[in-house]
Amino acid sequence: MARRPKRYGALAKTLDVEWCRGIRSDGTYCHANSNHSMGDVTDGGVVHWADRRMEWPGLVRFLKLVVISRDPTLAKEVPWRRIYRLNMALKEVEREAHTRVPARYLRADRAFVRASVASLSNDVPMRREAFDWSRREAGKTWD
Ligand SMILES: [Zn+2]
Repeated sequence: MARRPKRYGALAKTLDVEWCRGIRSDGTYCHANSNHSMGDVTDGGVVHWADRRMEWPGLVRFLKLVVISRDPTLAKEVPWRRIYRLNMALKEVEREAHTRVPARYLRADRAFVRASVASLSNDVPMRREAFDWSRREAGKTWD
């Protein structure tokens, strides 16, 4: 079974995403008004992300930025639906990256979605799926 790339450069290549680490190959700085340590996505789907040791919190953030770079419609969603849809799309990115985010790193997302949709009617689009997802503790984790 293929393994997750160990560096962001290789991971970006695997995921076929345009990665800007803040400094270009010619030594000049990226002029996009982007925060490379927090991470950002600009028009055209460029993921701005400073290179660093690959550790879970950063990796999760990077994978989410990849999701956002692939689907500009996420930005227009209300927060709970954006986070739910992002988490659904994250599964595909995880597959491509040969990795699986430990559940504890998505716990805050689930809690936020759960709190946001709890009082909404089931007629609200995606509300039911989002609520069900928010209540499920991800089964297998490797943390
Ligand atoms: Zn940049």
